[in-house]
Amino acid sequence: MPRTFEVSRTTTMTLRRIGHSVRILLGHPLPFAEEQSAISDQKLNRLTSRPLNSAFACPACGEAVTIVPHALRSGQNGRTYDLWSCLACTAVINATDLCAVGQPVTTVQSESAANFYRPTPEVIKALPNEVAQNRNLIQFLLEHCPDLGRSALLDFGAGRGCLAAAATEVFDLALASELDLTMLNEFLPHLPNNERIRLVSDPRMLPPLDAIAAFHVLEHLPDVKRVLGPVVAALQPGGALFFQVPLLRSDYLLNTHYTFFSEASARAACSRLGLDVVGVWYDQALDFLTCIARRPR
Ligand SMILES: [Zn+2]
Repeated sequence: MPRTFEVSRTTTMTLRRIGHSVRILLGHPLPFAEEQSAISDQKLNRLTSRPLNSAFACPACGEAVTIVPHALRSGQNGRTYDLWSCLACTAVINATDLCAVGQPVTTVQSESAANFYRPTPEVIKALPNEVAQNRNLIQFLLEHCPDLGRSALLDFGAGRGCLAAAATEVFDLALASELDLTMLNEFLPHLPNNERIRLVSDPRMLPPLDAIAAFHVLEHLPDVKRVLGPVVAALQPGGALFFQVPLLRSDYLLNTHYTFFSEASARAACSRLGLDVVGVWYDQALDFLTCIARRPR
């Protein structure tokens, strides 16, 4: 007579746990049937799939074949963003709007800037304080490039023009550019040293530049080289590009933020523009990346 064994419930559970561990070790993707049933249809219905091929090039490094799916992420505005990453330079790209811009990019961006930089009385009252903060940025640039020429600085994507105003204390001339100059024209009478600030809308009409400041601009560009290339061409040998961009975090997920730079992608973008990187710095409280790069002499 064969002996029979009564397998206790505890033993069964132990064996199941061991089996489960083995399955995990072997990289088996499916849980046990019981666990599978625990995943409700409702949960599965919330999962979204997406295509595997990108239809765009990396705005930072320009590569197209290196773009792979990264994640679907929700912004603080409740919108879902389709994010891809570039294996060549590690930039994370917001494809939702990069691929689906139904109107010219310039229109989207200048409308966005107009909403952000509305000249309310409170904002005008705060301008001197904002100029003082920008004075610190100019000093930071000069600390890291003490031999920089002092003839002309361009504030590219100047917003309210406060960095340009601060630059007039060091540079002979400060140029301020925006896609739409309406807002800058409204702020100009309220800025100090405004007789030394010149507003420009066409980057092909630039004088030789010693420095270009581009604060919170590069993340808005669908192709950094195409937009910034003609502007950087105006840099004198030894001239500096000084920029800051937001890193990837949910409150920075916005319709007009196409690229989330890493240090590697910032360096790749500079290299593509023919510039040598002086340094990359992080504001860890605000999750900003700051970079200075210079045109070789
Ligand atoms: Zn890239």
